[in-house]
Amino acid sequence: MGGGLSGSLLALELVERGLPVTLVDAAEAKATALSYGGVAWWAGAPGRLGPLLREAPDRWRRLQGRHGPLGWRRCGLRLHGGGWGTTLLRPPFAQVDSTVLMASLPRVLAAAGVELRRARVLAPPRPVAGGWKLELEPGGPLLAEQVVLAAGAGCRSLAPGLPERHRASWAGVLVLPARPILPKPAASPWWRHAVRRRIVQPRHWQRPALEGAAAGLQEERWIVDAGFAPWGEGLLLGQISLVRPGLDTGEPPPPEAMEGRLRRGLAGLDPLLAALPAPYRQVPVAFCAGGLPLVGPLPGEAGLWVFSGFGGAFAQVPVLAPLLADVITGVADPSTLAGLGVLAG
Ligand SMILES: Cc1cc2nc3c(=O)[nH]c(=O)nc-3n(C[C@H](O)[C@H](O)[C@H](O)COP(=O)(O)OP(=O)(O)OC[C@H]3O[C@@H](n4cnc5c(N)ncnc54)[C@H](O)[C@@H]3O)c2cc1C
Repeated sequence: MGGGLSGSLLALELVERGLPVTLVDAAEAKATALSYGGVAWWAGAPGRLGPLLREAPDRWRRLQGRHGPLGWRRCGLRLHGGGWGTTLLRPPFAQVDSTVLMASLPRVLAAAGVELRRARVLAPPRPVAGGWKLELEPGGPLLAEQVVLAAGAGCRSLAPGLPERHRASWAGVLVLPARPILPKPAASPWWRHAVRRRIVQPRHWQRPALEGAAAGLQEERWIVDAGFAPWGEGLLLGQISLVRPGLDTGEPPPPEAMEGRLRRGLAGLDPLLAALPAPYRQVPVAFCAGGLPLVGPLPGEAGLWVFSGFGGAFAQVPVLAPLLADVITGVADPSTLAGLGVLAG
């Protein structure tokens, strides 16, 4: 369940291992489609997952070798908010351009043999003899031997008993579908990086700290991480993140207020970029407090799996999807995942 980055890459791994796979996706706003797609394989993760992430560039190259272009490319990264001139501010980086990824996935999945169903799963899967029953709209019931929850922020309503560390935020960006011609390019110190298709991010990224504080929040809190990323022929400018207390993602926050906050935060980096006429868009994004995603079987629910809540999904998913596929197909033991600290329960 879920046709974003996590559900799609896992589906590809499972069909490659010979399992028949149906991918059910509501085709609603997905975090993947609005993502900067930065592949921070060097940024680490808690415990043994950190070193494993160094395999991410190889994984993307292999995926592209097998399935054709998915948007992966090496790209420059510029960090602001620190002194200039150190190599620390120019780390190697890569990006998966989410416009390319989203455009390619339906063809790639179909060619690999994944059956695609455009439908919403209405309620938590119900156990039946030999597997699970899903209620789809449109489409009615669907029976499956095994089910993987890879529905991002939609996972909680499909499995209310998920561990509390799995939560969701709202993230918003300004979407420039094409790169505008600026009257005076030199007026913006950052524009040359956009022209060279580099990602610009704050050196001190606030989003992880906000996610880490989620469990103790008494009221909603938002932050702006000012930066931008190439997105097809255009740019994503932002981003604003809002986290609410509790486990319910809730209704989308008021877009006008969020856009105003985002533009004011972005103006601190570059008033010219902040004033560009670009529509504001927002999506719910799953994350796990503590930085380790949920990957593996749901305790006490034979044949029900979870693959969600990534911190750095574009580095974590391509590395973890083959491991989970090995466990689901019985090639590897769940202890592989336990050693990484990603099991639920
Ligand atoms: C602005 C922004 C910038 C980001 N930058 C980065 C970055 O630089 N690097 C990085 O690694 N990560 C980044 N992220 C985070 C990353 O994009 C996400 O963690 C990742 O894309 C999540 O993928 P997913 O497949 O788990 O979820 P999603 O992409 O949200 O996909 C979930 C899918 O499940 C479907 N679904 C939900 N409920 C149901 C249901 N009941 N029935 C059927 N289908 C359902 C939805 O329609 C959706 O298609 C960013 C995110 C945003 C928003």
